[in-house]
Amino acid sequence: MRWSQTYIPTLRENQTEAELISHQLLLRGGYIRKLAAGVYLYLPLMQRVIENFANIVRDEMNRAGALEITMSVLCPAEVWQQTGRYNTVGKEQMRLKDRHQHEMVLCGTHEETVTSLVAGEVKSYRQLPLNLYQIQVKFRDEIRPRFGLMRGREFIMKDAYTFDTDEQTFLVAYEKMVQAYFNIFRRAGIDVVKVESDTGAMGGKAAHEFMMLVDTTAGEEVILFCDQCDYAANREKAPFRDPAKVVAESTQKSMQVVDTPGAATIEEVTAFLKVDATKLVKTLLYMADGAPVAALVRGDRELNEIKLKNALGCTELAMANPDQVQEYTKAPVGFAGPVGLKDVMILVDPLVTKLTNFVVGANQNEKHIINVNLERDFKASRVIDLSQAQGGDGCPKCEGRLTAKKGIEVGNTFMLGTKYSVPLNATFLDAEGKEKPMIMGSYGIGITRTPQAALEKYNDEKGIIWPKNLAPYLVEIIPLNIEKPHIKEAAETIYGQLAAAGIEVLLDDRDERAGVKFNDADLIGLPMRITIGDKSLKDGKVELKSRSRGEMELVSVAEIVGAVKKLAEQLP
Ligand code: ATP
Ligand code: MG
Repeated sequence: MRWSQTYIPTLRENQTEAELISHQLLLRGGYIRKLAAGVYLYLPLMQRVIENFANIVRDEMNRAGALEITMSVLCPAEVWQQTGRYNTVGKEQMRLKDRHQHEMVLCGTHEETVTSLVAGEVKSYRQLPLNLYQIQVKFRDEIRPRFGLMRGREFIMKDAYTFDTDEQTFLVAYEKMVQAYFNIFRRAGIDVVKVESDTGAMGGKAAHEFMMLVDTTAGEEVILFCDQCDYAANREKAPFRDPAKVVAESTQKSMQVVDTPGAATIEEVTAFLKVDATKLVKTLLYMADGAPVAALVRGDRELNEIKLKNALGCTELAMANPDQVQEYTKAPVGFAGPVGLKDVMILVDPLVTKLTNFVVGANQNEKHIINVNLERDFKASRVIDLSQAQGGDGCPKCEGRLTAKKGIEVGNTFMLGTKYSVPLNATFLDAEGKEKPMIMGSYGIGITRTPQAALEKYNDEKGIIWPKNLAPYLVEIIPLNIEKPHIKEAAETIYGQLAAAGIEVLLDDRDERAGVKFNDADLIGLPMRITIGDKSLKDGKVELKSRSRGEMELVSVAEIVGAVKKLAEQLP
């Protein structure tokens, strides 16, 4: 491709809309443009990157025996009503009506569609197992679209679905997908770790996420690793062993309301009352599908909203606003407590059940209650793990300690069991003629998120440094003083040779200053660069250099194809 024939609108200035380096570089490199919040247009270079990644995914999926199909993005609401998810997906689902006032949805995932397809087609165990996948646009009205392609409202996903006759063959299919995922990310130049994860809105039994570890703000997920065993889990689900030494007192003292003027936060209250945070219980008021819920966790722990949401099985969960806090506790924010709380469900974390004579809010402005005891002074509606695991906690599987690291979720795998096959009647007749529901799995990879995620690692102060299998082109040719005939001729010769060898190449044929060309080349970040200048060309040589490494080599025009291939082998 010639620069003059394509469209690469690079930008010199930093773009204020981009918080992440990867997002910034995609904008500045002329890869993407924003149309609306979470809605992006892919320009010619990005289109090639997406195709490169999609082709890696396709290749590994096909090798693993999966069959590519394409399912519509538009789906009648009925299919989602049949599984009950129509009422539980919440506002993330984009909905619309057609001209006949028929309710339709734009799919954010395709379990419903694919299961109803298979239910209508597959009748016998002889037709199974089956693994169907697609690379398709998804719509999700994300509450916080941000970070460019990382969290869009319209994005591309690879989603695969397996159908099996029994648990044993399902586990084989699942492992095949896990292996395919490791192959895919390795080929894309991305190191991933597989961690245990929450099953979320997808439901089902167990799930894993594939995380790229990063130490930038791009890491929206927190992963806990054990320092002694192979335990690794997303904080969203991670159980943990409590490292705090909490000693129960032998006698229950009498409860007492005390003034805590000016003290509302945990730090203020513990400082004022001179007690440890483990002696205090936080009461957090939430609205779960419109109903008030009080969640109690020990003062030194954070509440995990995912655990809370799972425990309640609700669709919409949000912290109560100040008016709601006032309505249910009769006090301003900061003084909620479980004693005397009426018409509110009280969920208590197990760590709280071990405490005696603890401190809670008094449901009165600037007052707390000391020497509170569960059962004697208030009752728990339910005791359930609500605490967020954190670095320094004990591993739930061994005696080791957990360390926290940030990660970007690039893919995931779910064990769905019969969650979709039962409501959608995806059944088959086994060898004995007995009707059984199919065992399912679903497997996602972010086709637009992953290449951007890669850039969190592959960049420097000048721009992008693509790993070779994602790069829109492998080599950029930069002829200096292209107006000189012998320079132009050498550029054309090299361009022709590389193209003939099947190497993807971009020729900067613009009549621009060297500085402009070099800056653009650094910004768009092709893995290799061939610079053609007067001086070396006198000896029939050109400069070959990788984007990631400083050193350049002089290569004769005749030997350029071999030199490029050799250098490519050394690059990520
Ligand atoms: P997240 O926790 O990041 O919201 P998810 O659990 O909702 O992800 P899935 O529904 O399983 O993710 O989707 C599969 C894959 O699709 C994810 O691993 C991710 O790579 C990608 N993905 C999910 N949501 C988005 C989005 N809003 N924008 C871009 N890619 C996304
Ligand atoms: Mg999501």
